[in-house]
Amino acid sequence: MNIAEQVFCRVFQFGFKVAIPILPYRNPEILNAVDEIPKILKEKQVNSVLLVTDESIRSLGITSHLEDILEDQGFDLTVYDKVQANPTVKQVEEARKMYLENDCKALIGFGGGSSMDCAKAVGALIARPDQNLEQLGGILKVWKKTPFTIAIPTTAGTGSETTVAAVIVDQDTRHKYAVMDFPLIPDYAVLDPETTRTLPPSVTAGTGMDALTHAVEAYIGNSTTKQTRRESLRAVRLIFRNLERAYRNGDDMKARRNMLRASYLAGCAFTVSYVGYAHAVAHTLGGKYNLAHGTTCATVLPYALEAYGAKIYPQLKALSIAAGLSDMETDEAYAARQFIAAVKELNEKLGIPDKIPEIKREDIGLLAKQAAKEGNPVYPVPVLMNARELKRLFYDVADL
Ligand SMILES: [Zn+2]
Repeated sequence: MNIAEQVFCRVFQFGFKVAIPILPYRNPEILNAVDEIPKILKEKQVNSVLLVTDESIRSLGITSHLEDILEDQGFDLTVYDKVQANPTVKQVEEARKMYLENDCKALIGFGGGSSMDCAKAVGALIARPDQNLEQLGGILKVWKKTPFTIAIPTTAGTGSETTVAAVIVDQDTRHKYAVMDFPLIPDYAVLDPETTRTLPPSVTAGTGMDALTHAVEAYIGNSTTKQTRRESLRAVRLIFRNLERAYRNGDDMKARRNMLRASYLAGCAFTVSYVGYAHAVAHTLGGKYNLAHGTTCATVLPYALEAYGAKIYPQLKALSIAAGLSDMETDEAYAARQFIAAVKELNEKLGIPDKIPEIKREDIGLLAKQAAKEGNPVYPVPVLMNARELKRLFYDVADL
């Protein structure tokens, strides 16, 4: 990347970094069990709730305990269970209609990232009845208080329970965009391991590695704060200690609880400190070849860390210590390489491939351009790369 482009990116990122202390970031309050929800709703004087979820979560019985306790305690409960992977404008509109028709006063998003995003998007439309979702797409367009919102993740990875964003797809044009504003941060996140008990091992693995990628990319970037560095290190420690356990034994509720906590911490960290090129590359590959986000991030992450080179050795040494691989006395370069090797090893243990065979040589030029467009100038990456430089990363990940 030439000097002028680098200066542009760094000035842009610096502007966002100096704004961090004055922007209304907040971490959602934590509840440790679904059982605590009725008490909180009573405290907030809410008696009518819209539960936003998807059919498979509901048919597995994962929401039934919450539905039972809310109904037993006299709440008016309305359920929208038609969310699909990548919630559409139509689904958000349907859920909003149910919210208004039933005079609901709060939202509960219960599921993976899609259900939580759908609930957050409904909140945005309730706050801004004068606007449609397309108009609210982008940064800081909502600007008004949304209804009281509780997020209940059923995977430990996306971090949607903590973030400012709701990603929506227009079902007609397939245009995918995010509504991003501070009122969309849920008020409460429920980190109850029972909601993740039936998650299949491959999803536990992929979403867990997504959380690791959030923590690592937030930590190595240039826009960290003392708090986000601490959150990232805690998330990395928890993931290295618990992800393989949760993968091998889905009934290990302690490991499941720790993974939910890790996902939450990583989400809080990347909401403030952003992600990096592993995400830009993974989003591009996911869009082109319809690949799962978490496993794609997992495969790309070690190659992205290698591509940044010696510039990030100090950060990687700190991550290596957090992961229990090194200590303060360990040589910096050695500790950094140990961390990258440990990420690859963890992928292997979790059955995640080290290459992405779908990548075709003739696609790489365009994919690299798209990844550069997503990453620059927004992501405060430790080493800037343009499309030409990012091509190298695609070749590394490809199995050509
Ligand atoms: Zn991610």
